[in-house]
Amino acid sequence: MVRFVDVQKSYDGKTLVVKNLNLDIAKGEFVTMLGPSGSGKTTTLLMLAGFEAATSGEIYLNGQPISGMPPHRRGIGMVFQNYALFPHMTVNENLAFPLQVRRMDKAEIERRVKTALEMVELPGFGARRPAQLSGGQQQRVAVARALVFDPDLVLMDEPLGALDKQLREQMQYEIRHLHDRLGITVVYVTHDQGEALTMSDRIAVFNDGVIQQLSTPAELYERPQNSFVAQFIGENN
Ligand code: ATP
Repeated sequence: MVRFVDVQKSYDGKTLVVKNLNLDIAKGEFVTMLGPSGSGKTTTLLMLAGFEAATSGEIYLNGQPISGMPPHRRGIGMVFQNYALFPHMTVNENLAFPLQVRRMDKAEIERRVKTALEMVELPGFGARRPAQLSGGQQQRVAVARALVFDPDLVLMDEPLGALDKQLREQMQYEIRHLHDRLGITVVYVTHDQGEALTMSDRIAVFNDGVIQQLSTPAELYERPQNSFVAQFIGENN
């Protein structure tokens, strides 16, 4: 479904922050990019989303090269930690927004907004504004907004970073459950080893713009391929 072929990225024309990235993600997979701050995870996601262009190489979505394809044409849902809800809009209006952008008719928008709120177990919250919701509820609305137009692919960048431990664990479960139920493909970014190990089908461990290891959580835990991976996975576990 997603294929990175020899993708590189430099912001300043000198330093490569993503180097020679080759990665295949199958339809329905939950793949996590895990690594320390500055290792190139967000940059990789932004290239896939269409907010940054690759310096060289190509990314394919369902077999089509995506360079030059505008972000809203890629059919990708996004949940970014700093991709906040619109504070002046109600929950319903926040969810309707990506559908209005796609010029969907009013009755269909209402139906989808209602279904999306039920999906994240927030029916009845549509008239509230984000400030009238808890952090966890806001994050659920952000997930609902990413799912409301029925994308095949959802990108999530540290979506739970602002939540406390208990809520984070609950949301990890809920996101994984939604993925399983809806059969969507998820590309997830985190620097939290535990989160990656719990949620993912496969994990790509990034360091310094390079994937150090790409494997299942069990393989990663039992057979780290190099000392960086061993040390990084060992931390906080
Ligand atoms: P974090 O977990 O802190 O978000 P990350 O692994 O997602 O880190 P990136 O945000 O992709 O890493 O950053 C990779 C490198 O690119 C870093 O050295 C960063 O300073 C640099 N970088 C990121 N965005 C830009 C930008 N817009 N302009 C210039 N340099 C950037």
